[in-house]
Amino acid sequence: MAEPRVLFAASEAFPFAKTGGLADVAFSLPRTLKETFEIDVVLPLYRSIDRERFEIVPCNEDFNVDLGADTFRVELHTCYYEGLSFYFVDAPLLGDRDFFYGPPDAGYEDNDLRFGLFCHAIVWMAERFGYEIVHLNDWQTALAALLIAQDETLMSRSVFTIHNLAYQGTFPVSSMLRLAIDRRLFTPEGVEFYGQLNLMKAGIAYADAVTTVSPNYACEILTPEYGFGLEGFLQVHRRKLSGIVNGIDTTLFAPASDTALATTFETPAGKRLNKLHFLHEIGIDNAQAPLFIFIGRFTAQKGIDLLIDLLEEIVRRPCLVAILGEGERAYHERLLEAAEGKKNIHIRFGYDESLSHRMYAAADFLLMPSLFEPCGLNQLIAMHYGALPLAHNVGGLADTVHPSPACLDEQNRGCGILFDVPSKEAFVAAFEQALSLYANEKTFERIGAHNMAVDVSWDQSAQRYADLYRSVSDGRVE
Ligand code: ADP
Repeated sequence: MAEPRVLFAASEAFPFAKTGGLADVAFSLPRTLKETFEIDVVLPLYRSIDRERFEIVPCNEDFNVDLGADTFRVELHTCYYEGLSFYFVDAPLLGDRDFFYGPPDAGYEDNDLRFGLFCHAIVWMAERFGYEIVHLNDWQTALAALLIAQDETLMSRSVFTIHNLAYQGTFPVSSMLRLAIDRRLFTPEGVEFYGQLNLMKAGIAYADAVTTVSPNYACEILTPEYGFGLEGFLQVHRRKLSGIVNGIDTTLFAPASDTALATTFETPAGKRLNKLHFLHEIGIDNAQAPLFIFIGRFTAQKGIDLLIDLLEEIVRRPCLVAILGEGERAYHERLLEAAEGKKNIHIRFGYDESLSHRMYAAADFLLMPSLFEPCGLNQLIAMHYGALPLAHNVGGLADTVHPSPACLDEQNRGCGILFDVPSKEAFVAAFEQALSLYANEKTFERIGAHNMAVDVSWDQSAQRYADLYRSVSDGRVE
C-alpha cells in the first residue's frame, strides 16, 4: 500500500526561524522521514526570515480565513531546501512582528488569533493538497487537530506532538468567539481550563495520536509534578499517548565536517585544539582546567536559578565556565552579578548558532540542571561532540544520559553525571564527581570516545514515527 502523504506543521523550523529544540526537530525529523514518505513542512512567514537567501517565493495560492468577525487574507510561499519543500504562511497578523511569540517576558496578547489563523491555513493546505497525515507540534498548531476532527469531508488524520507541556496556549474565554470555536466545547472534557481556553487541550483531545519527545516524559506528564494541571486530562487520553525520543541531525552536528569549528575532529583528542581556540576566542587561559558549558534559554525550566546560585561556589574550584543564552532580563542581571570579577567565567548573551557549535566542540562537560526537560537536544549534541553531560536525572535527560563510567559497557547509551534532586547539595556533589572524573585522563577520554560513537541520529525514532503514521492512517489508533 502507498505510504501516506504528510504535512509537518510547526511554529518554527531550522534554519528559517529558531528559538529552541522544536525548530531543530521540524527540520531534522522530516529530513529523515523523507526517505520513506512524501513530507512537506509548513511554518509562519515571520518578518525575520530571509526570503532572498532561501529563495522563498509566492506559490500563487491565496485564500481567506474567517475568524470571528474578521476576514484575513493569507498567501502561501514556498522554497525547496535540502531536499524538502517548505511552505510559509504569509499574513501580516501572524508574521509581521519583532518576535515570533512575544518579547522575552510575555507572549503577544493576540497569539490566539495569530496562531488560530496559522491553524486554519494548515487545514486549508491539508484539504487543498490532500495530505493524509498532518503532524502538529505544540499549542501553536493544536487547534488544527480540532478543526480536522470536526470536518467530516476531510480525509486527513492528525498526530500531535507535545514538545513542552509548560506552554499550553491559554487565553481568556473571549478567545472562543474570536476563534469561532463551538461554545459547547468549553467544558473540562473539551478545551476549558480553569475558566480559560486551553489550546493544548484541543491537540490532546482531538488528535488521532499524541506523542511527546521522550518515553520518560510521557510518563512524567501523567503526574501532578510534571503535568502542569493537565495530568488528569492526559490520563483520560493516555491510550493514544506515546513517547518517542528526539534525535539530532548528524549531518549538521557533525564534528568530523563542521565548518563552524576551528578544526574538525573524530576522536576526543581532537577536541583539545578546539578548546584552545575557543578559550583564545573568549580571552581565557588555563586550558588544563575542565571546561563546563551551558547553552540555552534563560528560564526557570533550565535550572538557571540553581546555576546562578552556585556559580560563585563552583568557580572557586579549578574549572572554567562558559555560558551562552538569552531570556528573562532578571537572569541576565543576576548572571552578570555572579560573574563579576571572576576570570574563569565567560558569559555571552544572545543567540549564536556558530558559537554554540564551537562551544560543544571545546567543552569537557555540559551543564544541564533543568528542573524538567521533555527531551533536551543539548545533551545529545554535547555527547556527539565528545563531551559529558552533567544533568538532572529527569525527563529525556534520564532516557539519554546514563551514569558513567558504569554505562561504558552498554554500547548505545550515552554517559554522563546525573543528580537526582535539583538541590544545591546534589549539584555540587555532581560537580565534584565531574572534577575527579576529569582528573582521571584515561577514563575521561574513553567516555568521550564512547559518547561520540553513540547513535543520537533520528534513524531509530523516525522509524517509530513512520510506524505511527501508518497506524493512524489505517485507523489503527483510536
Ligand atoms: P529548548 O527547551 O530550548 O527547546 P532543547 O535542548 O530541546 O531546548 O534545544 C535547544 C536547541 O537550541 C539546541 O540546538 C541548542 O544548541 C540551541 N540553543 C539554545 N540556546 C541557544 C543560543 N543562545 N545560541 C545558539 N543555540 C542555542
